[in-house]
Amino acid sequence: MFDVANKLHEVLGNLPDSVRLVAISKFHPNEYIEAAYNEGQRVFGESHEQELAKKVETLPSDIEWHFIGHLQTNKVKYIAPYIAMIEACDSLKLMKEINKQAAKHDRVIKVLLELHLAEEATKYGLTLDACRELLEAGEWRELKNVQICGIMMMASNTDDEAQIESEFEQAANFFDEIKAKYFADDENFKERSYGMSSDYQLAIKHRSTMVRVGTTIFGPRVY
Ligand SMILES: *Cc1c(COP(=O)(O)O)cnc(C)c1O
Repeated sequence: MFDVANKLHEVLGNLPDSVRLVAISKFHPNEYIEAAYNEGQRVFGESHEQELAKKVETLPSDIEWHFIGHLQTNKVKYIAPYIAMIEACDSLKLMKEINKQAAKHDRVIKVLLELHLAEEATKYGLTLDACRELLEAGEWRELKNVQICGIMMMASNTDDEAQIESEFEQAANFFDEIKAKYFADDENFKERSYGMSSDYQLAIKHRSTMVRVGTTIFGPRVY
């Protein structure tokens, strides 16, 4: 087995107190998650609803699960009973569905606004303008079972560190912009989720509060 305990402590050792680790355990078996859990890690991230459902059933109930992948609206109902945070919220439609399903369970589900800043042409994530429009429209204010806690993004998949840093910086600045405009009085709006195995140290330089690290802790994923 990959040396999860040592790798976990190596990553934790690189994080200032202001940065939380979401250990990304997708495609890794329960024993890997337990190895990290036994070292005190409690926040884990998964990106597939069915895989997550199996893990939730069999792993300790005090794990805080974050959903980090693209979430189809018809899947929200499956994770609504237990999910702590949905990190990749990229439309009002999805937010409304999360609100509806959270209400059924009398819960408030935390979400992050997923931004699209990378060069890659993925269809996921809000452009900055789309995010501004969503917030300006104001309908989100009525969604009482959703709590918007900040932003999430992925930098371009490139070796060009200047490019990566510039995207993190744009994300941090955008956070400041919308914090001031829409969430100034909301102490829950405080998270900047960016930084993965390859770039989390750069992300910290640009004020990440939450890094999502998988491969460095658990080794390569077997698909
Ligand atoms: C898989 C994944 C990660 C973790 O990536 P690593 O390179 O394994 O650290 C982080 N964020 C998202 C959204 C992911 O899908």
